[in-house]
Amino acid sequence: MAGSADADEIAALCHEHYRTELPKQGRPDPGKEWTLMAAVIQVQSAPDVKKVVAMGTGTKCIGQSKLRKTGDVLQDSHAEIIAKRSFQRYLLHQLSLALSGSLDCVLVPGSDTNKWALRPGVSFVFFTSHTPCGDASIIPMLPLEDQLCPPSTSEATPLSPNPITPSNKRKQTACDSPTAKRMKQDGSDEETGKKTDLKEKEESADVFRTGAKCVPGDVQDQRAPGVDYHTVGVLRVKPGRGDRTISMSCSDKMARWNVLGCQGALLTHFLQRPIYLSAVVLGMCPFSWRSMERALHSRCQKVSDLPEGYQVHKPQILQSHLQFQHGRDALKKAEGVGKMGPCGAAISWCAVPHQPLDVTANGYKQGTTKKAIGTPQSRSRICKVELFHAFRHVMENLSEEQTPVTLRGLTTYCDYKDAAVSYQEAWRQLREQVFTSWIRTPRDYLNFS
Ligand SMILES: [Zn+2]
Repeated sequence: MAGSADADEIAALCHEHYRTELPKQGRPDPGKEWTLMAAVIQVQSAPDVKKVVAMGTGTKCIGQSKLRKTGDVLQDSHAEIIAKRSFQRYLLHQLSLALSGSLDCVLVPGSDTNKWALRPGVSFVFFTSHTPCGDASIIPMLPLEDQLCPPSTSEATPLSPNPITPSNKRKQTACDSPTAKRMKQDGSDEETGKKTDLKEKEESADVFRTGAKCVPGDVQDQRAPGVDYHTVGVLRVKPGRGDRTISMSCSDKMARWNVLGCQGALLTHFLQRPIYLSAVVLGMCPFSWRSMERALHSRCQKVSDLPEGYQVHKPQILQSHLQFQHGRDALKKAEGVGKMGPCGAAISWCAVPHQPLDVTANGYKQGTTKKAIGTPQSRSRICKVELFHAFRHVMENLSEEQTPVTLRGLTTYCDYKDAAVSYQEAWRQLREQVFTSWIRTPRDYLNFS
């Protein structure tokens, strides 16, 4: 990954995949709705192959009261999280291929017994059609020079997405009603503050805002006019309608992936080291390289004492010129479009042979009636319990010698997570050193088997 040309290639690949592989069901209702899209792209060098292996769409997050102790509801359906969980399903399938002796998969035997490593030359790029909610979405509107260029000290040189010309300067800074736009994008109910009068402070007048609220009990937003509205670099919780959520913002979760990897706890039982994203590519949208860098990486930079194999990974951050066809900004431009709302459905797709698609609403398969909640038919393929069962299914086919010692004699989902000792140690260090107010899912919601 070098610059904007690569970013455009990644975006084009994802847009094409969205158009051709995702069903009508679950897509936004034309003229009425917009959605968010994210994906994981597998990149292989020599020969150079890039392919989408996981994709997610969605804008919603359910409130705390709708959580279930059986792990059968999708708590967080923002596109980034759907894409990441779909990616875990893809990896699990790759692991089953590797364990069955297939050579046509991304995993190869690692140096430790029963551990697997990524095939040399393979890496993963994350694409998102929009800036992740939370810290990365707090973007200075002006001066433009600051938001598009990385600091000169940066060794990598993510290219500026647009050369600064008068025409795109106008486009970037005059985004209509950006505040309301960001707030609604995150699904929150009401805009909580008024936009500052730009005439008063010509150059650094205001920031794009996020609907994600600071964690209760921690540092809060100042809510002062203009640039001082938000406190930057802090953990935030996703907004929900009415009932509050206990889901951290996508910025926070993505920062966590950059320390713990994005494979989750369970897969680490089989992996030599965590799987980090080599790059994060954004579609055309309000964007700040500085905000992204702070949100995803620099606020965790000082974390030390991580277990072997773990690091504070720094992905390349790039922006594409291409806009997602069903995103809010693209649809807003279309003529004759009235009031638009976020699409309530979420689509999950990943490169697996059986039932790669999964369309949900409110955390369950779309169309699930109240009565059917709790039945196997109501479950998303990527909810906690389904991923756990898929993981155990992979294990069932293993001989005693093939089973990692860490996985013997366990019962519940919680047991399996806790037994991922290095992963848990890395997570503890990250929490104790920087993410002290992270809201964790209560343990009694993880005790299913
Ligand atoms: Zn989000």
